[in-house]
Amino acid sequence: MFTRVRGTQDILPQDSFSWQEVEEGARRIFSLYGYQEIRTPILEKASLFNHSLGETTEIVQKQMFEIKHSKDHLVLRPEGTVPVVRAFLENNLNKTKDAGKFYYIGPMFRAERPQKGRLRQFHHIGAEAIGSISPYLDIEIISLSDRLLKEFGVKDYEIVLNSLGCSKDKAGFAEELRSRLKGRLAKLCPDCQKRYKRNVFRILDCKNAACKKIISSLSLTCDYLCSECRSHFESVTRGLESIGISCQLLPSLVRGLDYYTRTVFEIRHNRLGSQDALGAGGRYDNLVSRFAGGDTPAIGFAFGVERLLLARDHHCVPCARCLIYVIPLGQKAEEKCIQLLHSLRSNQIAADMDYSGRSLKAKMRQANEANAGFCVIIGENELAKGVVTLKNMACGEQEEVKQEELIEKIKNL
Ligand code: AMP
Repeated sequence: MFTRVRGTQDILPQDSFSWQEVEEGARRIFSLYGYQEIRTPILEKASLFNHSLGETTEIVQKQMFEIKHSKDHLVLRPEGTVPVVRAFLENNLNKTKDAGKFYYIGPMFRAERPQKGRLRQFHHIGAEAIGSISPYLDIEIISLSDRLLKEFGVKDYEIVLNSLGCSKDKAGFAEELRSRLKGRLAKLCPDCQKRYKRNVFRILDCKNAACKKIISSLSLTCDYLCSECRSHFESVTRGLESIGISCQLLPSLVRGLDYYTRTVFEIRHNRLGSQDALGAGGRYDNLVSRFAGGDTPAIGFAFGVERLLLARDHHCVPCARCLIYVIPLGQKAEEKCIQLLHSLRSNQIAADMDYSGRSLKAKMRQANEANAGFCVIIGENELAKGVVTLKNMACGEQEEVKQEELIEKIKNL
């Protein structure tokens, strides 16, 4: 038997309702905040990510699913920000408007070692706001993330926040980290020893207990920020406070990708275990200019849908009480039922029919499994009288309804 690829999931009908609920909720909130949907291809050129994520990042080094086809070197997109920026520039959206606010929902691919909450194909719900340096945009993006979580029914999450500062500040922070870690290099895990030279910030994300202990003993602060970045960050924290969004300042918060500058944030949930990040984001003020020159600051975030579903409090069952289940008894009734089914659906009434030819009891069981609100039963008796039997599945009551009056009757139920 064929099985699915490790680290991928089938989303089965019993789960797809929750997915639809989250996706539809997200679309509603995004439009409330003025964000428009953008859909970029799943296939992109490998060079796009090599150029933008940073050569020493985990994703570029070992997590991209690569496809070499003829002369093309392609990848399955590992994240959404870079493709959105590419599409923004390639389609000249930067020429037609000053700023762009986009959202996307779709699969991402990373060649990871699969574990709970860590998949090779997972899904992002993300947003990118391109074109402004204003701290009020940072506030909007973080409050949008918060609003989405409320919409999804996620509770007890924590928003952690930091500022990495501008490129100069970041370089200073990296230098300071190296000098403070120098004496303890031998105590870091082998991976972090390599990270020390290549990308020292990655040490701050390490899950190894010894490395974590060393990091917490550093008592990091935001002292490396220049005055402009400091005042930007103060505006962000003050603004968030003024609209009642509480955040935890965490100077050791850096994000895994090179393109981040200034505000970075992560949303954590303790139900998720070691993979506790529900979503994350931040400013990337230099990414657009890395592709096209010019000064185009931006900020964005992405949630992992699989983790959102794990953290949600309620798992709604699809309410199919409006479904009408049509049950024919006998061949002649089947023909009538086909017409009835067609006219129900043409009148925007959700309806299904039993095609099995089994007993009435089996068909009723099927209707129950389909969670139908009502059954419409037609046998020889009903055919002769020009009626249907309409059965309320919740209370079991039934009544005869003239065939030509059925649609109106159902619409008024
Ligand atoms: P990132 O793009 O790494 O900042 O991730 C943003 C969010 O995507 C994370 O907070 C997770 O919720 C989700 N995510 C990232 N990688 C994975 C993965 N391998 N499996 C499942 N979800 C993921």
